[in-house]
Amino acid sequence: MSVLAPWLMAYYEQAQEWRRSGKFHHALLISGINGVGQNAFAEALTKLLLCEHIDRAPCGKCHSCQVAQADTHPDLQILDGQDGGIKVDAVRQVAAKVANKPQLGYSKVVLIHEAHRMNTNAANAILKALEEPPAATYFVLTTHTSRALMPTILSRCQRMLLPTPSEVQVTEWLYHEAKVDVSKLMWFSQTPYHLLALSTSNSFDMLQQLPDWLERWLQGGMRTDEFAGKANKDNTADFIDGLLALLSAAVQYSASGQCNALVQGACTSLLTRYDIYRLMGFVQSLTELKSQLDKTHLNPTIQIIGELNSW
Ligand SMILES: [Zn+2]
Repeated sequence: MSVLAPWLMAYYEQAQEWRRSGKFHHALLISGINGVGQNAFAEALTKLLLCEHIDRAPCGKCHSCQVAQADTHPDLQILDGQDGGIKVDAVRQVAAKVANKPQLGYSKVVLIHEAHRMNTNAANAILKALEEPPAATYFVLTTHTSRALMPTILSRCQRMLLPTPSEVQVTEWLYHEAKVDVSKLMWFSQTPYHLLALSTSNSFDMLQQLPDWLERWLQGGMRTDEFAGKANKDNTADFIDGLLALLSAAVQYSASGQCNALVQGACTSLLTRYDIYRLMGFVQSLTELKSQLDKTHLNPTIQIIGELNSW
């Protein structure tokens, strides 16, 4: 999947135009809801910025383009907040590297994935670099929660808010690019890159069946330990998120009368047994259980059985 998703193309063309006309801001913050494609988009921009032929970047032929294609460009520095946060030492190392001249082409790029995961010291170090950027250096930041960034960083960046694709765009794109049918999971997530990651995980089959299992369990057709046993140690978080999504869908169904056909049976079964306040109580206790399981080594199946027994 090297081609950018269709809902990102107009934004990419805009960035290409900035680059070709010399108007690319030295600090660009790319935001949008989680999983809409910020990382893939930002990676495409780094190639655009590293190409040696500004007027037709990315040419795909110059030495910089070829090296960037192999993900080994010496003028590209990456800080990735997905790996447990970004610390000040890492930022300082990157700042020292970009203080030098480019090694290959004419520009250097610092790519910061999940920029909201910089701690305060790291954010201050980046701020300093943004305020006095080294020559020919571009900072590309991504986030899905720009409010979590320091206002001083936000004010230094040009911002690009990526659009949220429609359900049809998401299902068509994933079917076309990854040969995977995610239409049965649209009740759980509508963000393309989240769905793409799920499609190769062992949560994929589990989540597709979860609404039916919940309905059967509520109707007495499945034992509680059997239902809870559908989650294994690798997908407990998705199992709980799935239950949370179904509870929210039921609450919404009750309020609006609208419901995804795939979960209508489960939602109806919930609403005929519990009132909205009980359902919201379940949301709260499941959310607490999920955060406890993150922090402890409790047996997830036993904890989920305990939770379901209180319903
Ligand atoms: Zn090139």
